[in-house]
Amino acid sequence: MNKRFSLITAVILGVFTLSSCSNWLGKVNIFPVEQDVALGEQVASSFESGSAAVVLDSAKNATLYRYIYSVRDTILNTNLLVHKSDFPWRVRIIHNDTIQNAFCTPGGFIYVYTGLMKYLESEDQLAGVMGHEMAHAEKRHSTDAMTREFGANLLLELIFGTNKAQLLQVATGLAQLSFGRDAETEADNCSVDWLYQTSYNPVGAAGFFEKIQKEKHQVNIPEFLSTHPDPGNRVANMKKRWSEKGGKTGQTYAERYKKMLTYLP
Ligand SMILES: [Zn+2]
Repeated sequence: MNKRFSLITAVILGVFTLSSCSNWLGKVNIFPVEQDVALGEQVASSFESGSAAVVLDSAKNATLYRYIYSVRDTILNTNLLVHKSDFPWRVRIIHNDTIQNAFCTPGGFIYVYTGLMKYLESEDQLAGVMGHEMAHAEKRHSTDAMTREFGANLLLELIFGTNKAQLLQVATGLAQLSFGRDAETEADNCSVDWLYQTSYNPVGAAGFFEKIQKEKHQVNIPEFLSTHPDPGNRVANMKKRWSEKGGKTGQTYAERYKKMLTYLP
């Protein structure tokens, strides 16, 4: 398939694809979908080579990585993700207890900070947040936002070019990227829909917001607690969606979560 044709196809698919956890239409991402992974790889390696990211070694922390990959696999095995097999969905744990954050690059390179893992109280909350972040890659909000911020041409240049300084700048800005209200709502909806098909409490992500509200604690969450939608509205929205689906309850897996935390440095 030539490049022009694939770009046209991508635009058409972008217009006519109505996804199960989507409640908004008409977003056209002109960045070719097959480049999401290539861009994600560049951004991920640039992010990890920067001094801000201390990645927990996967060989020395095998138990932790087995745990977090099993959470990821539970989400992927719902088979609700169109890009389940297109993206690597690689997970890296960042050793930084002062940041309660997680994010996902285009193409599915997932980052979870130890500060977030220690702040959360149960596995359904971690699954809910990971589902939310994975939805930003699955629904291509990341390339939407990056295209808006930097332009499609610059992003393609980053993949094929050698401008490492610019790449680092883009990678550093990634965690602070703002997706907008619709994208955050869609990611929240995906989180509920996906967890609903597992044994998890489907509104695990809402538990995270409730904890923040209860403690009136200003935590350092640049992406997940983005300024756009009010956390209270997001909890209400997630619970409404959950109840419309039938209000099935699920497991929090708090005990095995606490056990996992003892393996964190
Ligand atoms: Zn988000």
